[in-house]
Amino acid sequence: MVKLAEWRGKRLFRKYAIPVPSGIVVRSPGDAFSAARDGAVPLPCVAKAQVLAGGRGTGGAVRFASTPEEVRDAVAAILGMEFKDEKVREVLLEQKVAIGRELYVAIALDRSLRLPILIASSSGGVEIESVADGSIDRQPIHPFAGLAAYERRRAARALGLSGPLAASLDPILSALWSLFVREDAELVEINPLAVVGDRLVALDAKVIIEDDAGFRHPEYAEILDDRTPLEELAREKEIAFVQLDGNIGVIANGAGLTMATLDVLQEFGGRPGIFLDLGGTDDPKKVSEAFLLMARAKPAAVFLNIFGGVTRCDTVARGLVAAMHEVPAADRFPLIARIRGNNETEGVEILRAAGVSSVPDLKSSAQAAVAAAAGAR
Ligand code: GDP
Ligand code: MN
Repeated sequence: MVKLAEWRGKRLFRKYAIPVPSGIVVRSPGDAFSAARDGAVPLPCVAKAQVLAGGRGTGGAVRFASTPEEVRDAVAAILGMEFKDEKVREVLLEQKVAIGRELYVAIALDRSLRLPILIASSSGGVEIESVADGSIDRQPIHPFAGLAAYERRRAARALGLSGPLAASLDPILSALWSLFVREDAELVEINPLAVVGDRLVALDAKVIIEDDAGFRHPEYAEILDDRTPLEELAREKEIAFVQLDGNIGVIANGAGLTMATLDVLQEFGGRPGIFLDLGGTDDPKKVSEAFLLMARAKPAAVFLNIFGGVTRCDTVARGLVAAMHEVPAADRFPLIARIRGNNETEGVEILRAAGVSSVPDLKSSAQAAVAAAAGAR
């Protein structure tokens, strides 16, 4: 999922002529100070942490400043934050505007309708999840016909806008639709869309680009750097590998089984944290590579949960055993295996010969993995 930082979203807004305050991105308090002193950012201004999580407004990650000194201090404070586990590296400095009302508009993909929908609410500025459902207007959009004039008018009414404000909403909604389609977005959200005098200004931008369209957008390659170095390596090798903060490594095949395995480990008090989905492969070399990658993530224990189909049990076992010998002694970890399905007998035998026993029962094998990880700590 390519979730864009606010400033990148606003850069897209500018491209589609959606009004946003003027602003710049800084990465140090010193740069912030000079930008404010030299007039590169109008004062008073707003300093906003460029993190992907929401709720910055209430979490101290949005601050106001009126002098270059205040700007410097606000930026220093924000850069020192870890906001919802995300380190703040960039701060957006923007002209502060006098807000009349805060509105919410978004175009999202509604997967159950299988259509884009236009969402409008006059209660903007707060998390939309906490807004009473009755006060949110939702309109499905015909994907080929696009956003019609009557639909834009209905949204204006839902937002309680009339006269010049309704008139200024209209091109914003059309632009939002163009952006959604042309930029391959799955979500474009403006919250708040602020009433500033008789104009509307997008004070925040949340844009998510559809993952499957990534190949059409080389411009976003650089922002995928929130991957860990190992995740980056995995991507190059086309291995589905995700690191979170648990200590149990999970190697499974297929997203469904991988997820279920995480749940089961969690259920027995384990902390699964390194996920590797072998998917469908019939190449032991690929399995070896994946296993070595897992080893480099230094798991306390690894739970191998394979259901053999296209990916045969013996292929996995062969790849695994070949890789086990390459892991340096200091990096070895307990391996708990459960392999079932296609060519199970051969696979189990290959593992056994290498000193790894496969426990067919899911509950017992998961519990063994949790115990092994606890023992390793
Ligand atoms: P979020 O909480 O992470 O969604 O961050 P937002 O960008 O939505 O900002 C949070 C809140 O800060 C907004 O709802 C506004 O109330 C306030 N805010 C942001 N920019 C301005 C501004 O230019 N002027 C004023 N007065 N308030 C602002
Ligand atoms: Mn917001």
